[in-house]
Amino acid sequence: MNSMRRFGGRVGIGILACGLAMIWAASAMAAEKDGTLRIICFGAHPDDAEFKAGGVAAKWAALGHKVKFVSVTNGDIGHWQMAGGPLARRRASEVKDAAKLLGIETQVLDIHDGELEPTLENRRTITRLIRDWKADVVMSHRPNDYHPDHRYTGVLVQDAAFMVTVPFFCPDTPPLTDNPVFFYYSDRFRKPNPFTADVIVDIDDVWDKKMAAVHSLPSQVYEGGASGSKEFVAAIPDDEEGRLAWAQKLHGARNAAVANTFRDALVQWYGPQRGNKVQYAEAFEVCEYGRQPGTEELKKLFPFFAP
Ligand SMILES: [Zn+2]
Repeated sequence: MNSMRRFGGRVGIGILACGLAMIWAASAMAAEKDGTLRIICFGAHPDDAEFKAGGVAAKWAALGHKVKFVSVTNGDIGHWQMAGGPLARRRASEVKDAAKLLGIETQVLDIHDGELEPTLENRRTITRLIRDWKADVVMSHRPNDYHPDHRYTGVLVQDAAFMVTVPFFCPDTPPLTDNPVFFYYSDRFRKPNPFTADVIVDIDDVWDKKMAAVHSLPSQVYEGGASGSKEFVAAIPDDEEGRLAWAQKLHGARNAAVANTFRDALVQWYGPQRGNKVQYAEAFEVCEYGRQPGTEELKKLFPFFAP
């Protein structure tokens, strides 16, 4: 189909462009005026964003900023014993509970777990989600990761990093006038390059909130998800208190490892006194494809550090 027919002729384009420009300008001004940050975090499965950014999300939310988690797949093969629609429904309900505890919004896309591909259709979906949220900050996995869904979530978000600003890519959804800053979650993968902690956040003060969110994902935490087994489940305490203590140990070790691995970055952001004391942390790397922030802008986007 030629472009004249697609857009209904030159006059049509003029009116459309004019109207959209006014709406875009108005929405950009509204965002600037009240100073609220808008953050959207993509995870491949209904648990990834909660594990990687649950702490920082709780901190942003507590300050009145708007956070949304998006699971790009529905997680419908993420269990050793159940699958399909019932598991997808169960996991959507789990992340809803987690979101309530963190004070954020959440959405699960209905794409099969284990089958995510970096298609044009999916690039459009991610682009529209970032635009609709009017995001200042976007987070996702790095594109080198053990799980194909994690890798392609990273690729899809990278593919959207420039396109969110391009007016006639998905012209049905107003583009962002300011390109957001894109970040990657921390991971342990070293090839082709290891993760760099460009920003690191002390989450000790929201640790209980993060753990409450983790605790609300039993299919993954206490049943082991796709890697679980009868033996795994048998080894988990039955009572709520025992289960939470068990989860604290595992996730405490993970977030303590982030703090200890990137201790130098903690000291750099918080100074030696506090930086050396932090027990649990979440770290993020700036993606090269969105807006490139300096230290001052990073402090505005992560308003948790002393001025
Ligand atoms: Zn995952």
